[in-house]
Amino acid sequence: MRTRDPRRLVAASALLATASAVASLSAPVGTGAFTLTGDLLDLGQRDFRVLNNFSDPSANDNTTPHPDFPGVLGATQAIWKAHLEWSSVPFAGTGDQDPTQTVLGDGGANYDASFQGEITSAPGSNGNVHRELFDPNPGGVLAFTELPSSDGWTINYLSSVTWQDGPGDDGATDLQAVATHEIGHVLGLGHSSAGGATMAPFLTGGVSQRSLSADDVAGLQAVYGAAPASKPVITALGGTMLQASTLTIHGGGFAPFGNTVWFTSAAADGTPAMVSGVTSSAGGTRIDVTLPPDAADGSVLVLAGGATGASLSNEWPLDVVEHFTDLGPSGIGGLFGEPRLTGSGDTAPGGGPFTLVCQGGIPTQTSFVFLSTTVTPVPFYGGTFYPFPIAAQRVVPFNGAGVWSVTTAFGPAVPSGFEVALQCAHEDLAAPFGVSASNGLLVTVE
Ligand SMILES: [Zn+2]
Repeated sequence: MRTRDPRRLVAASALLATASAVASLSAPVGTGAFTLTGDLLDLGQRDFRVLNNFSDPSANDNTTPHPDFPGVLGATQAIWKAHLEWSSVPFAGTGDQDPTQTVLGDGGANYDASFQGEITSAPGSNGNVHRELFDPNPGGVLAFTELPSSDGWTINYLSSVTWQDGPGDDGATDLQAVATHEIGHVLGLGHSSAGGATMAPFLTGGVSQRSLSADDVAGLQAVYGAAPASKPVITALGGTMLQASTLTIHGGGFAPFGNTVWFTSAAADGTPAMVSGVTSSAGGTRIDVTLPPDAADGSVLVLAGGATGASLSNEWPLDVVEHFTDLGPSGIGGLFGEPRLTGSGDTAPGGGPFTLVCQGGIPTQTSFVFLSTTVTPVPFYGGTFYPFPIAAQRVVPFNGAGVWSVTTAFGPAVPSGFEVALQCAHEDLAAPFGVSASNGLLVTVE
């Protein structure tokens, strides 16, 4: 049976009316002032989704992309941060993604969530969804969580409240702070009498409740257990998840065999896209996995066998955007067929390096590489040329195997999202019009 959370986070006005009572109930942090509801999320309930139907412009006025929240802005980014604050270790290694907190990821327990995307319509109860709920009557309540959560949950943010998405504090009710509190209820925590606790029954205003207190952490660990040293951890992603769609996961505590890698699913149906039966190497510190076709921008986690939170790693951001996009064939090959132009590596501004390789050329022949900031397919020696109008060109020799390779990097001032189209061509008397050209390649700075 579904019940509304009777322990609702109430509005600042109510806080003002009862401030002295709250103060008199306050206890020093760390005295076990937290309370528990009996709810516990098993591994089948670690997903969450956001129905970003917030009606206030201030709930979605953060339009600055953050590399650790791929493809996510506004209210959704704020709610994802709220989940991450309860996670086992600092997010993406540093936990420095929120300017109002020292560290994002303070839980230290056997609990980590899996972001499963934004949805456009409510899936009904128990869908593990955050949403705004229409409320024509402003009152003391800001938000409530449908409990029990062990079989699924919904967090409702009332439309009578003016919500703000951060990342700073702009005066309206802080969505991230309230979300952090409501997620605490989802995780099995009731209200706490500890001073400064996120699970205090009243919103203290501003952004302070975005950050867990020691009492909140103690409550979380009482439900899920403190994370043991053996808990799997992701510390970096690498390799090329680009043309080969292979992702390398670095970390520790991975099982030799039988790992399952969870991805944010493009279906956004509340179930992670998964690759199971994955082996690790290098003493359980490395996993190489092929991205499943339904993996979307979001995150990745590793379940190292087992069926408890102690076997599930932290959540790590994953951007599956193709940084190297094949624009199509030139259609003009000669002695060795059509040359093949590919890219791999890091195309972030100020990052890098990334490498461009052209294969299938004529040994020691000169190759001309053409660049453009626009893609306009135009006729070219009987085929198709993509980087037009040409902004620059460069001469590179093929080696004795008919291959050239160029390693370079984008400077820090190159804006994210900037694109460069490339194609190479060389004289080839075996080609119909005396010129062979590679496919076009679009490199996206990100
Ligand atoms: Zn509450």
